[in-house]
Amino acid sequence: MSVAASEIATSTIRELVDANHILFDQGVVDGFGHVSVRHPDRPDRFLLARSMAPALVTEKDVLEFDFDGNPVQKDTPTAYLERFIHGEIYRKRRDVMSVVHSHSPSVVPFSVVSGVKLRPVCHMCGFLSEKGAPVFEIRDFAGPGSDLLITSGKLGAALADSLGEGPAVLMRGHGSTVVGGSLRQTVFRAVYTEIGARLQMDAMRLGPVTFLTEEETVGTTKTISTQYDRSWFLWLKAARNSAMSR
Ligand SMILES: [Zn+2]
Repeated sequence: MSVAASEIATSTIRELVDANHILFDQGVVDGFGHVSVRHPDRPDRFLLARSMAPALVTEKDVLEFDFDGNPVQKDTPTAYLERFIHGEIYRKRRDVMSVVHSHSPSVVPFSVVSGVKLRPVCHMCGFLSEKGAPVFEIRDFAGPGSDLLITSGKLGAALADSLGEGPAVLMRGHGSTVVGGSLRQTVFRAVYTEIGARLQMDAMRLGPVTFLTEEETVGTTKTISTQYDRSWFLWLKAARNSAMSR
């Protein structure tokens, strides 16, 4: 790796640490859940923390993996059980630069109620598919007695198939996985997937919901695509303030 390339990797690792802290502070992850980024110098690898609570991740906790979920360095600490989610999505989707897997609480109900799909109710959630986020049913691949986790490349590949070309896939009785073309965009989407789910449930309690049209999802996504830094730096400051008070 050249010096310049290694500097890029170092700044990417720093940003990945920030992403971990933001996602905890915004209520997307708790002790569980994880965020990865495609390696900036090696597109066939990704960076992901060792198995630990995201709020506590530091630069020295970030590991490099191949798409099979194997750590590149020898004698590494324990890795996340569900690292296969990340590798298989990067393998299938060349446009994806970052992946967030979480159990964010407002999203889970949409994974277990048939006939109600998570759909975009507001402009900040316009990236969500107008047709509704797909739901991955692990029983179709692991039978009726699994622990619901994505603990193999086979299950990761099935999840990646379920995600398709979209930005988010729900996982029945478990959580969701959100992807994007940059780390900041993916963090934005993970936060607003949780907010969108909450707003949709609030709206459904009031009455019939008017969702965004397909054209509106395109328009709102285009406008917001230049604005990710605005929320990123606010959320980062909030996460650092919260960490100082803990
Ligand atoms: Zn999980």
